[in-house]
Amino acid sequence: MSSAVHPDDVVDVTVLGAGPAGLAAAYYAGHRHASVRIVESLGEAGGQLVALYPEKQMGDVAGFPSVVARELASSLVEQGLQFRPDLSLGEEAVSMESVELDGEELIRLGTDAGNTYLSRSLIVTTGHGAFSPRKLPLEGIDKWEGKGLHYAVREKVSFAGMRCLIVGGGDSALDWLLGLAEIAEPPIVLVHRRNRFRAHESSLAKARALEEEGKARIMTPCEVREIHGADQIEAVTIENTSTGEREQVACEALITLLGFSSHLGAVAEWGLERFGRRQLLVDPATMRTSRSRIYAAGDVAGYEGKITLITIALAEAAMAANNAVAEIRHEKAQPEYSSE
Ligand SMILES: Cc1cc2nc3c(=O)[nH]c(=O)nc-3n(C[C@H](O)[C@H](O)[C@H](O)COP(=O)(O)OP(=O)(O)OC[C@H]3O[C@@H](n4cnc5c(N)ncnc54)[C@H](O)[C@@H]3O)c2cc1C
Repeated sequence: MSSAVHPDDVVDVTVLGAGPAGLAAAYYAGHRHASVRIVESLGEAGGQLVALYPEKQMGDVAGFPSVVARELASSLVEQGLQFRPDLSLGEEAVSMESVELDGEELIRLGTDAGNTYLSRSLIVTTGHGAFSPRKLPLEGIDKWEGKGLHYAVREKVSFAGMRCLIVGGGDSALDWLLGLAEIAEPPIVLVHRRNRFRAHESSLAKARALEEEGKARIMTPCEVREIHGADQIEAVTIENTSTGEREQVACEALITLLGFSSHLGAVAEWGLERFGRRQLLVDPATMRTSRSRIYAAGDVAGYEGKITLITIALAEAAMAANNAVAEIRHEKAQPEYSSE
């Protein structure tokens, strides 16, 4: 599908980030007959759903009793690109400034690919910005990347028949213990440094049931002390921090799910008022940031009581798009139904 918008065009709305919020914003702006450009730093649209947890089974997205993240992302992409916005993938926005052209106030976005894009409004939907996984505090840990060390489960099937060891105590660790238990070589091992988990009770109960069946082994309070192998990971040494006992556990896939650290990146330098370290302050009634014509939605948008969920991101995107389009047209924001 080719775009209706030419890369050189001044568009009504630039959407920065093609996660759930960005795709929804592109849809709602397009639905109001606005011209839209999306700029996304990754090579694929879908945001955290495709980058971090493509195979996660989700149950809390409104309208979907159960959906795999990758499938939800592809529906969001299909809907978000419906009005044929210009989509620039693999380009990270690094600068933003206001400029005047032929008496019109515009926003100029600069990317790391050396492109500049002009628009009448901007909707920032950059989520958590650039991600980096928290790593095990072991010297030389990076050298195991690509040799059996994983920071995410991208394709479940690639772990079929493998001896897997997961490190972590949150929802991701428990979700993947349950998700991989059926296909990994049993028992799949879970290592957590505390006895208590920060995960849903129901996931923990399922994990304990797997342990009783001999399909899982849960090691607490334990930490990974050493990784062994030549070209590939073959085993890790685990220490029980309460007894000091050490044990070498065979493993081909070491999956560390310790969360991600993130930062706003270049967006933090654009003079927009912040809400904490990681978010832009918005008015929750309109999703406008501290500057006119610049809106934010999704995880990057902050206000008191904010909940970072997809359902919320989609609602905020609808508000941001409606208000951005109304502002550049000097109109009052009104809802418009797709059935019209
Ligand atoms: C492991 C995990 C499980 C989750 N499970 C659930 C769940 O079950 N249910 C639920 O509702 N929520 C869940 N979430 C939260 C949910 O994924 C987020 O709330 C949602 O992705 C937010 O969407 P977004 O569009 O705001 O941001 P994102 O999905 O983060 O998308 C932002 C996009 O912007 C791009 N970007 C960032 N900076 C730039 C830049 N400078 N230039 C260009 N592009 C840029 C990024 O590459 C990314 O594609 C989970 C999150 C994680 C980490």
